Amino acid sequence: MKNEISTILLKQVEYVKTRSEFYKRKYQEYGNRYLDFFSLPFTTKTELLIDQHNTSPFGSNLCVREEEIIRVHKTSGTTNKPLIIALTLNDINTTIKVGSQCFKSAGLRKDDLVVHCLNYNMWAGGYTDHQSLEMTGAAVIPFGVGNSHNLIETILLLRPTAIHCTPSYLKKLELIIRNDFQLEPDKLGIRLGLFGAESGLQNPIFRHNIEGTWGLKAMNANYGLSDVLSIFGAECQYQRGLHFFGTDVIYPELIKPQTLESIEIQTDAVGELVLSNLVKESQPLLRYRTNDVIKILSIDKCKCGCKGFTFEIVGRSDDMIVIKGINVFLSTIESVLSKFSDLNVGIFQVHVNKIDPINDVHIYAEVNNKNVNYENLKNLIVQKFQSDLCFKPDIYLLNEGELKRCEGKTKKLYKSL
Ligand SMILES: [Zn+2]
Repeated sequence: MKNEISTILLKQVEYVKTRSEFYKRKYQEYGNRYLDFFSLPFTTKTELLIDQHNTSPFGSNLCVREEEIIRVHKTSGTTNKPLIIALTLNDINTTIKVGSQCFKSAGLRKDDLVVHCLNYNMWAGGYTDHQSLEMTGAAVIPFGVGNSHNLIETILLLRPTAIHCTPSYLKKLELIIRNDFQLEPDKLGIRLGLFGAESGLQNPIFRHNIEGTWGLKAMNANYGLSDVLSIFGAECQYQRGLHFFGTDVIYPELIKPQTLESIEIQTDAVGELVLSNLVKESQPLLRYRTNDVIKILSIDKCKCGCKGFTFEIVGRSDDMIVIKGINVFLSTIESVLSKFSDLNVGIFQVHVNKIDPINDVHIYAEVNNKNVNYENLKNLIVQKFQSDLCFKPDIYLLNEGELKRCEGKTKKLYKSL
C-alpha cells in the first residue's frame, strides 16, 4: 500500500483538502504535495479538542452542512475533555455495517435476543452500538446502564441469550443475582457475553472465571474509537486475537510513538495505531494517532474468512516508557505488582529520568500487611521485575494510605528523576 496509495485514500485526501478548514490550515505548507500522503503530519486528539473549543461545537473539521448531520455523540472523555462527534446518514451506515460484522464474528446470531447494557447518554456505545447489534438480525433489548436490580428482573422475564456490556459490570451483577434473587448467574441462560476490549478479558484467568460463573462464552467483540469508527475490532470463534474489520473504510498505519517512525504492519510488529478514514463525510480524520499501542498477531487470512490482520492491545502510548530498548507500559508494571498480595492493587507510582535514555526506575507501592518483612518483599519484587521485564527497579515500600489518591484517573508516571 505504501508505494501504491489507493485511489480511495487519495479521493478522501482531496475531499478533506477542499472541505475541511482544520486540515486546510494544518496542511497549508503542503500545497500540491498532498499526493505524498506519508509525509503529512499526524493529527492528535488534543488538536481536535482545541479546534472544537475555538469553533464550537463541531470544530472546523466539519466537512458537511449542519443540516446533513443526523446524529451527535460525544466521546467518553475518560482521559480528556469529550470530543463532539457528528455523523451523516452515510457515516452511520458505514459504522453499523462494520459494527455488525464484529458482533457476528463474535458469535451473535439472528435467533439471539441480546440485552444491551451500555450507556445511551450521548455515547456511541449506546444507540449506535444498538443499531450494529440490530443489523446482525438479532433482537435487542435497549437497557442502558444503571437499574441493575431491574435488569435482572428483565433478564428473568425475557430470557435473552446474549449480553453486551463491560466485563467489570458482570462482576457487579453477580452480587445482585446472588443477594437479591438467590440464584447463581449461570441459571440465567445467557450463552454469549459480548464485551468491550477492556484489559480484563485479555487476562485468561479473568475470562475463565466469567465463563465458569455465567456458563457463557466471553468474547472481545467491541474495539474501536468513536472519533474514527465506533467498532472495528472483534474476536472470532477461533479466538486468536482481535480481527481488524475496518479494511474497506479505515486505513491503518503503525508508528513508533517516540520517534513517529513508520513500522510495517507484519506479524509481531508493535506500534501505535494510526488511522485514516477512507469514506467518512462529516469529520474525517487523516493519520490520526489513537494512542493505542497494538501488537500484530498475524497478517494471514483467518479460517473464519476475515481478511484483516489480527491484533491485541498492548497499552497506551502515553503510558509507555522505553527501558533498555524494551517498551514497558504502566499496565505491565501494574500486572507484575499485582502478583504480590501484600501490595495494594493499582496504587503505585513510577518515577523515571526526565530525559531519555531511562536508566533509573523508582517504583513506590503500598503494603497492606503490617506483618510482612519489607526487605524480603522488596527483594522478591525486584527479582520478579528482573525475570519478567529484564530490568531492576528501585522499590520503595510505603504504608497503607501514604500515596496520594485523586478523583478519576490518578497520575502514575512521573518523569522526575
Ligand atoms: Zn477469525
